[in-house]
Amino acid sequence: MMAQEQSQARLLEGKQVADAIKQEVAREVAQLRDQHGVTPCLTAVLVVDDPASAVYVRNKVRACAEVGINSQKIDLPASTTSAELLSVVQRLKSNDDVDGILVQLPLPKQIDDSQIIEAIDPAKDVDAFHPTNVGYLAMGRPRFVPCTPAGIIELLDRNQIAIAGANACVVGRSQIVGRPVASLLLQRHATVTICHSKTRDLPSVTRQADILIAAIGRPGFIRGDFIKPGATVVDVGVNQLSNVDQAREFFGAESNRRIEAIEKRGYTLIGDVHPAEADLVAGYRTPVPGGVGLLTVAMLMRNTLQAAKWRRNL
Ligand code: NDP
Repeated sequence: MMAQEQSQARLLEGKQVADAIKQEVAREVAQLRDQHGVTPCLTAVLVVDDPASAVYVRNKVRACAEVGINSQKIDLPASTTSAELLSVVQRLKSNDDVDGILVQLPLPKQIDDSQIIEAIDPAKDVDAFHPTNVGYLAMGRPRFVPCTPAGIIELLDRNQIAIAGANACVVGRSQIVGRPVASLLLQRHATVTICHSKTRDLPSVTRQADILIAAIGRPGFIRGDFIKPGATVVDVGVNQLSNVDQAREFFGAESNRRIEAIEKRGYTLIGDVHPAEADLVAGYRTPVPGGVGLLTVAMLMRNTLQAAKWRRNL
């Protein structure tokens, strides 16, 4: 009885894989500089005064410095209009020194996201949200691939988790995570099921999955009985949790550390998977924080390097 209560899932840490990818990118950036005199340049545009978005952009800019990519950050006030942002994006599009354009989402309500995304040059679209890049991916001929989904595939590959032939289930159908990761898994010959808020009897569907990807935005939503024993569970969610009782329930042995974090800064981060329950059933689980999020930034570095090379036919 006691044995069944013990944690069995192995953690798929993002740091080791993200560091390896960043080292590979840094080597190629140095080669590009030495052989062709080119240093890739990423420009990040941050429109809102949202602390989480500001942290994400800061991490991206910091990663650029780590791998030798030039970066520039443009801060715009929350009151920025669609027309004003459009003119910034158009200026970056025609600036030959800029290889990658990243407009941090979400944007304030008054701005039409699609109009901005469609204004980005597909050749500089390092987030890969432009319809041209989305279309190539859907056709199974990816050019730029969105960073979080690409990072998930790297995490699976570099931990020798077989994708071909596996039953993969993606919970969430957003443009940023759910749909593109489903496309990539399909391209890698998984049998893919995509679930969403209208899926009937979700646990009975997710329990078929050898690889379960949770990209929902609801703390601890994927419970132990959603998971096939031994499955690989990739937790994409990033949610803030400030309730101490919930933290105790979600985090099991780790709860003291998490409660300390709540007492110190008001919250702790939790994914879309119930960690304590998943650990009793899953074979592998990605932690939050320290899992998929680190890969997202590493893949942005790779996309920016790729943009610099493709734009010069290198
Ligand atoms: P969205 O809100 O765009 O999409 C959420 C998806 O979850 C929707 O497709 C929705 O279904 C589905 N969903 C919501 N409730 C349920 C439910 N009860 N049952 C089944 N499906 C449900 O979120 P994102 O994809 O942008 O992000 C998901 C999470 O991943 C968030 O926590 C976000 O912060 C995190 N994230 C993390 C990143 C990282 O680098 N680690 C990067 C990007 C996101 P429907 O379509 O029917 O509404």
